[in-house]
Amino acid sequence: MVPPGRIQAETLKTSLQNMRLSRYFMPTLRETPKEAEIVSHRLMLRAGLVRQESAGIYAWLPLGLRVLERVCAVIRREQDRSGAIEILMPTVQSAELWRESGRYDAYGKEMLRLKDRHDREMLYGPTAEEMVTEIFRASVRSYKDLPKNLYQISWKFRDEVRPRFGTMRSREFLMKDAYSFDFDQAGARHAYNRMFVAYLRTFAGLGLRAIPMRADTGPIGGDLSHEFIILAKTGESEVFCDRAYLDFETPPETVDFDDVASLQGIVDSWTSHYAATDEIHEPEAFAEVPEADRLAARGIEVGHIFYFGTKYSEPMGAKVTGPDGIERPVHMGSYGIGPSRLVAAIIEASHDEAGIIWPDSVAPFDVALINLKVGDAGTDAACAQIQSDLETAGLSVLYDDRDERPGAKFATADLIGLPWQVVVGPKSLAEGKVELKRRAGGERESLAIVDLLARIRRV
Ligand code: ATP
Ligand code: MG
Repeated sequence: MVPPGRIQAETLKTSLQNMRLSRYFMPTLRETPKEAEIVSHRLMLRAGLVRQESAGIYAWLPLGLRVLERVCAVIRREQDRSGAIEILMPTVQSAELWRESGRYDAYGKEMLRLKDRHDREMLYGPTAEEMVTEIFRASVRSYKDLPKNLYQISWKFRDEVRPRFGTMRSREFLMKDAYSFDFDQAGARHAYNRMFVAYLRTFAGLGLRAIPMRADTGPIGGDLSHEFIILAKTGESEVFCDRAYLDFETPPETVDFDDVASLQGIVDSWTSHYAATDEIHEPEAFAEVPEADRLAARGIEVGHIFYFGTKYSEPMGAKVTGPDGIERPVHMGSYGIGPSRLVAAIIEASHDEAGIIWPDSVAPFDVALINLKVGDAGTDAACAQIQSDLETAGLSVLYDDRDERPGAKFATADLIGLPWQVVVGPKSLAEGKVELKRRAGGERESLAIVDLLARIRRV
């Protein structure tokens, strides 16, 4: 695993140095908010990660934003590695574009429709197949320019009937959406496999075990649609799968995304056992799984990949010329991940009664530094030294320098769930020691300040 410090330094836009809780903005709540039905929602509100501004519409506060950015960083890393190229499209789109595909009228009430001052019909994008197809057709003409995969990470709006569970099912939410363009179906299959493998690595990189489950492909048919599901009691989907998936190996960093056969091998193996959501569940096929391995559970959909052929390229005229000089519509797929839903899903998968337990790869800070006696020359100096040493080494530190009781500081640290807590009190400091606690597992040890960094780095 990459040392937490390295990811932090590489991926956070802002590397907050010398951050003290007394100056930070982290509006934690003592009371459990009544409206929150599931644990991740309760903890996101209590730890001050987000605040609801309207039904299903959230502001991201500093701590939550840092987690969201780190989730996006892991997603980006794997998208880039797989060969996808990042762009950024507008959130507001024109209705005209959606009329070309026929979806403007078909989409229904989930689409937020607007009018500009000239009375032109606009919409807040719930997804972007039409727009990316328009961008593609404007410049790509030949099979020689393929394959391409363009992705973005941007806000989407869907006027969900029942927004609930905080950022798990919100109306405004962040989505990574990628779109692949290929000359033929074989190429599109490889594009699909690239994303499939990139998704396996992405979710593992976030500390999650996501299982690819066969999903409904609608009128296109075929087997090229999978939902990536995290098992969780509070999940909204009912899922059925073989327990074997829980022990499957994640493809390594060295996987060659250009190697068609090897990617197909990985996808074949990850689809070799039964796994389906309730919409397309086949009880007879499931019954063939050995009884001890049958897992009927609830799950959270964190990603969805889909091959849809020429569904948009055909009506919208996105064509390329082949080696034979003939123009054909390109084969496309789309690939979504929900970063804002993932923040909640990670908490569902990793928490205890005291609060959140962030996986190292997405924690908002690596270390909570707790001064038990603010104003004491010794502990103040030791904390300043520790913060500076750890930050120089690339770790991020949130220093609790508030004038609060130790109990309140411990409770806050457990609630916000940073992977490490360093506790500095006058008594142990007199012996040259501080206390180090691992949030996951709760082990504590007493050690000298000079040994802190090496100890944290060992994990
Ligand atoms: P769901 O079945 O949960 O409504 P969907 O199938 O409509 O989702 P997609 O269109 O496949 O969603 O969107 C891609 C990803 O975007 C989803 O896998 C999910 O992670 C995320 N997502 C979709 N809708 C929401 C939402 N309302 N709030 C937060 N994230 C969402
Ligand atoms: Mg879906």
